[in-house]
Amino acid sequence: MAIQWFPGHMAKARRQVTEKLKLIDVVIELVDARVPQSSRNPMVDEITEGKPRLIVLNKADMADPVVTDAWLRALKRDDIEVVAVDAKHSKGLKQLMSGAEKLMQEKHDRMREKGRNPGPIRALIIGIPNVGKSTLINRLAGRNIAVTGDRPGVTKRQQWIKMKGGEMELLDTPGILWPKFEDQMVGYRLAATGAIKDDILNLDDIALYTARELSARYPEQLKERFKIDQLPEDAVELLELIGKKRGLVSGGYVDFEKASELLLNELRHEKIGRVSLETPADHDMA
Ligand code: GDP
Repeated sequence: MAIQWFPGHMAKARRQVTEKLKLIDVVIELVDARVPQSSRNPMVDEITEGKPRLIVLNKADMADPVVTDAWLRALKRDDIEVVAVDAKHSKGLKQLMSGAEKLMQEKHDRMREKGRNPGPIRALIIGIPNVGKSTLINRLAGRNIAVTGDRPGVTKRQQWIKMKGGEMELLDTPGILWPKFEDQMVGYRLAATGAIKDDILNLDDIALYTARELSARYPEQLKERFKIDQLPEDAVELLELIGKKRGLVSGGYVDFEKASELLLNELRHEKIGRVSLETPADHDMA
């Protein structure tokens, strides 16, 4: 992530999203299916000002399917329109379209009753950096579009991208929101999944958090990947063991930094399998 959020940036991002909202019918809010709550902007409700909104749990191919189902159920119970998508491999796009149509159905029905043609649904994709906004826009458009965020000083006319089916149009520049780092757990979850750069937080701390979380949530996957019979209870010992197993030893000591990088790389490249680091139960939503 190239963006460091400071109050000035936040105010500007918010202004840009607000401007775009005037042009659209539906907000498509992308979050990371592995960390759906941590990868959203906590002020998004306020920022989107009551526009109909579809939540998309993206990167569902990398998330634990059982946990993704639990998120879908928990959010639907709260009357939130939500779909799971794998934008990279174009999975779930039909459901996404139906979700957007459902949000507009009443309004469109009323328009038709009055003899008016509702036209295509106009949508804006929003989300934090790296969540898959550009990928999704390209997949929905069915072709590669040079998706750019808003750059300071560059004024650009908004373009509408017609989608493959033709029933929806997307703004070509997504709305970029900022994650909220103030809660340390949010920072660790975003760092572990690769949503934010490692240098924002301490690498050792991210790796220790990850070792602890994986031991608690996915012990079998962890044992299998690193050929460990019994997981040590202590996260430092676990990282050391992982380092030893992979020969990351010099002068008789495990290279803790290399072991940390290895664990995080393996998680981010799905070598440890499909993993979710946040469940509805973590937020008393189960
Ligand atoms: P943006 O910053 O929100 O526009 O994010 P990008 O579209 O640039 O995606 C960031 C990274 O996530 C890229 O490496 C994409 O290939 C990857 N990505 C996006 N969507 C998915 C998905 O559904 N599954 C997987 N596995 N990777 C994805």
